[in-house]
Amino acid sequence: MSNIQSRALFLDRDGVINVEKDYLYRIEDFEFIDGIFELCKHYQDMGYKIFVVTNQSGIARGYYSEKDFTALTAWMLEEFTKHSIEITQVYHCPHHPDISGECSCRKPKPGMLLRAKDEYGVDLNSSIIIGDKERDIEAGLNAGLSETYLFNETQEIKNSKATKIVSKLNDIWKEKC
Ligand SMILES: [Mg+2]
Ligand SMILES: [Zn+2]
Repeated sequence: MSNIQSRALFLDRDGVINVEKDYLYRIEDFEFIDGIFELCKHYQDMGYKIFVVTNQSGIARGYYSEKDFTALTAWMLEEFTKHSIEITQVYHCPHHPDISGECSCRKPKPGMLLRAKDEYGVDLNSSIIIGDKERDIEAGLNAGLSETYLFNETQEIKNSKATKIVSKLNDIWKEKC
């Protein structure tokens, strides 16, 4: 364990890393979103640790199993590795309040982000989250993050508590260079 606090880039999975498809768990349905590797590379080069924080209520609902999720995650991580990107950890919430009861990890709750702080010494205050739903943004705000981005390709969402609403992943980091 290091005492050095690190900044983190938190990524929602469905709708940020891969094209949103309902209750996706098959590798053949997993389609990376344009710009995700470049975005990760940028933040990795800046010293950010990258975490995936994903609600997977399909597990509670019985649409797919923990094993399915783990297999897809292993494949996804390999694809990131091929692009020289290291994902520090993938946190998922398998729960749904109506089925498995309340939990502390399902976004908008900040549980998964707090775990990253506890387990990897992440400085939440200087960390970033990117999500495609307002509950991702709220999880970030509930964890005390300073930068939050709502990725909305269709430009349908006009109101958000996010720092910025973007329709391309590149818009999050490219103008800063
Ligand atoms: Mg999503
Ligand atoms: Zn949970």
